[in-house]
Amino acid sequence: MLFLGQRQRIALISEHGDPAIEIGKEEAGGQNVYVRQVGEALARQGWEVDMFTRQSDATQPKIVEHSRHCRTIRLTAGPEAFIPRDDLFPYMPEFVQSFRRFQAENGIEYDLVHTHYWMSGWIAMELKKLQPLKQLHTYHSLGAVKYQSISTIPLVAKTRLASEKTCLETADRIVATSPQEMAHMRSLVSPHGNIDVIPCGTDICRFGSISQTRARQLLGFSPEDKVVLYVGRFDRRKGIETLVRAVGQSKLRGEGNLKLVIGGGSRPGQSDGIERERIEGIVAELGLQEMTLFPGRLGEDNLHLYYAAADVSVVPSHYEPFGLVAIEAMASNTPVVASDVGGLQFTVVPEETGLLAPAKDEAAFAVAIDRILSDSKWRDQLGQTGRQRVEEHFSWNGVAAQLSKLYYQVLQEKPVEKPAKKRAVVGA
Ligand code: UDP
Repeated sequence: MLFLGQRQRIALISEHGDPAIEIGKEEAGGQNVYVRQVGEALARQGWEVDMFTRQSDATQPKIVEHSRHCRTIRLTAGPEAFIPRDDLFPYMPEFVQSFRRFQAENGIEYDLVHTHYWMSGWIAMELKKLQPLKQLHTYHSLGAVKYQSISTIPLVAKTRLASEKTCLETADRIVATSPQEMAHMRSLVSPHGNIDVIPCGTDICRFGSISQTRARQLLGFSPEDKVVLYVGRFDRRKGIETLVRAVGQSKLRGEGNLKLVIGGGSRPGQSDGIERERIEGIVAELGLQEMTLFPGRLGEDNLHLYYAAADVSVVPSHYEPFGLVAIEAMASNTPVVASDVGGLQFTVVPEETGLLAPAKDEAAFAVAIDRILSDSKWRDQLGQTGRQRVEEHFSWNGVAAQLSKLYYQVLQEKPVEKPAKKRAVVGA
């Protein structure tokens, strides 16, 4: 229960995943969406939410108010410029200092912090040496899993793996977003530590708010088109190549109404721009240019339209801790064909809300896509069941309610010992 007329302050820390930034570019994806949506939903449920991130551009405002009780606070930690996350760790001690300075200057203390990604976990472990604090942590990506699927291991890997292990063993609670992620923590990181599973969520009002017919009219697709959709960042780990090659092998290719839409932002010359060029090269090599569209970053005004217009949404990732795109598509009544990995095994129910195929197996993806595209009645059924599944398990409000309950539980387990000074409570 909340104190009557008062709100308890909590801090969410997401060092590189800025909750206030434009989504869909190289380093802005699921984590940014998660922190922002959870923060706003927690505020609606009575918390005073401060979300901390790193200032990555000098022109960004220091504080962004999302609603009366939820804001993003950008702290100085290294140059005010974009820095790839693998190069960020040296600036994390400065993040700790900036966080401490913010608390001191504003007379605020937090009883509880929910950290996101391993570096934020490290920040909280440092803060706990300096002040009483309860820590919940969500990994969003596990080094131990990620390093199995990439060829070049970054220099920071050793520090990351050690930090992820200590965090699992010492945080008051780890929040895994799927049973699969929890199993990876146990088998690859440590048998110790307290883990609860609370999934990611999605906006069930925004997604699913428009019919396929209307969305197609607005986007200029015809009712006969068979629309295959990818939404996400341009990153090799996302497996866009598998999708393009699968469409190249589709039995429906000759019918003339197959459309492939690859949605996501990119910046020429940066790693996402380079990946987009590589994908465009494969599209050209397979002679798919005529039927392939690259609409760029999809945003507030059109993302829900593309999901609704699609016949099938494909998530061909090599690995995915959760995969928001799958539940966004399902919320939009669109079946999903996804790689049989990580959180996608949890969100997509094969033969009921979509199909799973082995990662990187373009032939299996082609068969799965064709099965759905060639049976429109079954397609609609899969879409409806997907929508029901999201309503039952993956709404932001439902997710925030589970988190809220866990926060209270953790706060009561062994009260944070506070010096005699002021409490971290503000007026409602
Ligand atoms: N996204 C978006 N516009 C785009 C591409 C992606 O808003 O053009 C969003 C997408 O809707 C989803 C998030 O970025 O909410 C990607 O999250 P996901 O968990 O699927 O992947 P991640 O980026 O975390 O690897």
